[in-house]
Amino acid sequence: MNLGEAGRRQVAWKARHSSKICKHERMVDYLISKKGKNTGYLVCMECGEAFLDPLKHISRRQIKTLEELAAEDG
Ligand SMILES: [Zn+2]
Repeated sequence: MNLGEAGRRQVAWKARHSSKICKHERMVDYLISKKGKNTGYLVCMECGEAFLDPLKHISRRQIKTLEELAAEDG
């Protein structure tokens, strides 16, 4: 999914669960940039939180901060 979708899931999670902390125990998806590239992050399908992919399918040098990715995606 992309950052926009992740953001919508974060809003939906907060609306449903208030301050409950998600344990990211269920499915995750790759966080994909607007240009369709793997960002090196995974997104929890439940709460929309993005975190670094522990398997690192791209090199560390290519991984940008979430803020940088958000700026690129507009
Ligand atoms: Zn989660």
